[in-house]
Amino acid sequence: MKNKLGRSPAVLYCPICTRYVDGQVEQAGRKLQAAPGQKCPRCASTLDAAIVVQLRQAA
Ligand SMILES: [Zn+2]
Repeated sequence: MKNKLGRSPAVLYCPICTRYVDGQVEQAGRKLQAAPGQKCPRCASTLDAAIVVQLRQAA
């Protein structure tokens, strides 16, 4: 498992195009936030402001 940065795959909600997209989240203290530097695959906007909807938990 490569999880040094504490990033996890998750479903994000892009507020720009109002779609749910796949992305990564990172742990910031006790809360999760969208990992910086990602772009929305639909509208190419930054996902820094995206809302974390759901973690994708690996089986
Ligand atoms: Zn978008």
